[in-house]
Amino acid sequence: MKRTETPLRLRGLARRLLCIAAALAAALSLVSVQGCKKKAPDTGTQTVEITGDTEPTSSPLNSPTVEPTVEPTVEPTAAPTPEPTATPAPSTPSGSGKKIYLTFDDGPSSATPTVLDILARYNAKATFFTVGRMVQQNPNTAKRIVEEGHLLACHTMTHDFKIIYVGPSAFMNDVAQWREAVKKAVGYDAGAYVIRFPGGSTSAGGRSGRGAYLDALHAAGYHAFDWNLGLNDKWLAGNTDHLPVYDYLWKSYCETYAMYKNSKVMILIIHDTEPESVRLLPRILEDLVSKGYEFGLLDELDEDYLM
Ligand SMILES: [Zn+2]
Repeated sequence: MKRTETPLRLRGLARRLLCIAAALAAALSLVSVQGCKKKAPDTGTQTVEITGDTEPTSSPLNSPTVEPTVEPTVEPTAAPTPEPTATPAPSTPSGSGKKIYLTFDDGPSSATPTVLDILARYNAKATFFTVGRMVQQNPNTAKRIVEEGHLLACHTMTHDFKIIYVGPSAFMNDVAQWREAVKKAVGYDAGAYVIRFPGGSTSAGGRSGRGAYLDALHAAGYHAFDWNLGLNDKWLAGNTDHLPVYDYLWKSYCETYAMYKNSKVMILIIHDTEPESVRLLPRILEDLVSKGYEFGLLDELDEDYLM
C-alpha cells in the first residue's frame, strides 16, 4: 500500500502545482493582452520640465502669443487636430513583423533631449517632424537627432498657416528655408525628404485642394505623411471627462490604438513640446514593446500616407 500511496500524494501535489502555474500564466497573459487597461507603471513621480538649460529658451512654446510667425503650438487653430477618419492608404512597410512609426512634431524643444534619452533606452527609432525655427533655437538637439539614427524630417520653417497655406509656391519656399536651417544646424544637408503638413494634409487647401501642394512636394522629392494613432495632446478640449491630462493622453492613445491596430501602416503622432506627452512616452513604449512592435522610420515607405 505504501508504494501506491506515495505516487498518489505526488500526483496530487503535481496537480496543485499545475493549477498554480496555469493561474499564473492566465494572470500574465491578462496583463499583456490588456496593456492599455492596466494600471500605470510606476512612472508617476517622473517629472519633465521644459526648460532651456543648454539651449536658448526664447521658445514660444509656453508663452502663447498672437504673433502668428512664431507659434509652433498652434497645431489645430480653432478646430481640433483632425483625427483620422479614413482608412489608411495601402502602403507596404518593409519586413514582415509588427511595425509602428513613432513621430514627434513641432520640436526640437527643450524637452526633446529627454525624448531622445527615452528612445535610446528602448532602442527605438523615430521620425522627428521639426520646425525650422525650432531647429535654429536648438541646433545641438537637431544634430543629436541625426547622430542617434532618427529621421530629421520637415514640418516647415514657420509652422505658420498664414504663411505656408497661401499657396504651393509659398509652401515650398518655407520648406526650402527649413532645409537651409537644418543644413546650418547639422553642418550638412541632413534633412530627410519626408514631410508632415502643419495641422495635417487637410489643412493644405482641404482634401480637394491639397493635390497642388503634393505635386509641388513630389517634384522636389518629398513624401508627405499624416497619422492615425495619437494622444490628442494638442486637443485638450476633447477631454470632456476632465481626466488628469496624463490619463486623457493615455486613454486617447489606447482608443486610437484599438481603432487602427489592424491598419497596414500605423503612424503615431506625439508632440515633443508637451511635458505630459514626454512623461507618458515610457509607458507607451512599454506597451508597444510588450505587444511585439518594432519601430520604423518613415523614409522606408515610398508613397504618401494621408488621411
Ligand atoms: Zn505641428
